[in-house]
Amino acid sequence: MLSLSKSQRVFPGSRVGMSRDQNAETRLLKQRLTDFMDEARNNERKLRRFQALELKLVSLNSILELIDTLLNPDPSAVSWDQVSLLLFDPEYEVQRMFKDEGINLEEKPTLMFVSGMEEVEELYTASLFPSLGAYRSSKHARLFKHGRKKPASVVLLPLVRYGRLIGSFNIGSYDADKFVRGVRTDFLEHFAAVVAICIENGINLERLKRQGLTDTLTAINNRRFFDQRIIEEVDAAGRSGKPLSCMLLDVDFFKRVNDTYGHQVGDLVLREVASIIRAQLRGSDVLSRYGGEEFSALLSNTDIDEAEEVAERIRRGVEERVFDVPDFDPFNITISIGVATLKAGANTSLDKKSADVLIGQADRVLYDAKANGRNQVVCAPESCHLGNGISPA
Ligand code: GH3
Ligand code: MG
Ligand code: MG
Repeated sequence: MLSLSKSQRVFPGSRVGMSRDQNAETRLLKQRLTDFMDEARNNERKLRRFQALELKLVSLNSILELIDTLLNPDPSAVSWDQVSLLLFDPEYEVQRMFKDEGINLEEKPTLMFVSGMEEVEELYTASLFPSLGAYRSSKHARLFKHGRKKPASVVLLPLVRYGRLIGSFNIGSYDADKFVRGVRTDFLEHFAAVVAICIENGINLERLKRQGLTDTLTAINNRRFFDQRIIEEVDAAGRSGKPLSCMLLDVDFFKRVNDTYGHQVGDLVLREVASIIRAQLRGSDVLSRYGGEEFSALLSNTDIDEAEEVAERIRRGVEERVFDVPDFDPFNITISIGVATLKAGANTSLDKKSADVLIGQADRVLYDAKANGRNQVVCAPESCHLGNGISPA
């Protein structure tokens, strides 16, 4: 703020006798005051817009929604011409989260992942504060390679948690004067802190969700996940009219494995069986640990003959696997598999009851496989269902 010397003080109502200098000073002060007021109003508007955007980010339910919102900022909230997000993802964890949700990362070119920390650190060599300035190809080209036009000025916001960089949110403007050194960055710093917290929380939440739906021994989905997914898959099969196959797979005489080789070897066998089954399924098929030594698989868009072939390959894979554990002779195990298929007419409304019928059929033929001598695949004879609801053909 300007301060006036004693001789310059202006007293209200004492214009008479004011020198020309004093008049000029008064005008200058008035202008300054108007400028300050304008700036204060401007900042308040900006603050509100940032707060609204931050509130939106905080209220989103998933890391995927969060990243989408960041990469497509509401133009009524901020006037950014280009944005990109670079995330440090050393274990490919976030990338896997996207893939598991069926999102093609190639369709999100403004979202970038790096596995080496130095690739983020090199953006912030001087300090962990927003880095503003004119666009420079050598530094910024990889962050803004997707726009039709290069930005004229850019600001890179470091995303920091507990003193560690977790990524960089990058904003570009076609206005060369928008992000220049010296402009205040406190809103942007606050925004970056909120974004960093939201990203970290989103990833943690997703991790927790996944842990709750994953079997810790075999690292495949657990029964809870299966119970949710079968409803969705049955519903999708009803809408598309495409067949959905379900397999129940149960290791034969598994109790003997535990009794003969010990529980730890039993665990190892279960992990290996899970991976043999996984290897025969497509990425989109849903494999779960259904219970102790029992697995389930859902194969969408797969008819009974195709499912039988897959099941037969799994059966053979398990039979051929030789387990060689210390202190014991090598041994083999076998598996029995029941297969059932749901086939509805297109746009058929199928529900939880249809899912129960499908599992019930697979379970019944699994029982038959056991009763007929084990180590075999049995398909449900009444696998074809047409029309509304479930009625054996
Ligand atoms: P069947 O051919 O009729 O299926 O015989 P089975 O011995 O496989 O079936 P049973 O149901 O009698 O025994 C299953 C065994 O699986 C009993 C249980 O202790 C064991 N089991 C269940 N979960 C685990 C696990 O996580 N680890 C280990 N090691 N064993 C398990
Ligand atoms: Mg068994
Ligand atoms: Mg069993």
